[in-house]
Amino acid sequence: MTHPTDGSCIFCKIVADQIPCFKLLEDEATIAFMDINPVNPGHALSVAKGHWPTVDVIPPEVLGAVARTAQRVAKAVITELKPNGVNLLQANGEGAGQSVPHLHIHIMPRLPNDGVALNWGYKPGNKDEIEAIYKKLKAAL
Ligand code: AMP
Ligand code: ZN
Repeated sequence: MTHPTDGSCIFCKIVADQIPCFKLLEDEATIAFMDINPVNPGHALSVAKGHWPTVDVIPPEVLGAVARTAQRVAKAVITELKPNGVNLLQANGEGAGQSVPHLHIHIMPRLPNDGVALNWGYKPGNKDEIEAIYKKLKAAL
């Protein structure tokens, strides 16, 4: 199976075995390896083999494969490392904190008081605003 690739992309280089990684598993469409800047011990990445930057451009079946691989890794993390919890995270665009423009899902174990600023408290929204945006999105689907 051939995948789109980008010669200047760090994850494409990992997929092509041009730079090393701590590879956890690999299948036809995905690869999983340890993150070299772990937020907590066990932080890993499930990565599409092909170079698609974001969720809006990746083929849905590849996104599904990346999610399946993330689930396999998450199960091992939960069983073997017993963290307090695990976040599966996927960023799209610099504004969302994406630093590598090659689609990946973080498998991020969480520890008590780890200071990861991902969770937010509930603040009730404005119903009219929610409805107006809902209508716009619904019409696009
Ligand atoms: P994001 O910021 O969501 O795009 O996540 C990119 C992740 O890739 C970061 O958590 C980095 O630590 C990680 N990363 C970057 N380069 C490498 C590499 N060569 N091997 C493993 N992980 C990497
Ligand atoms: Zn790439």
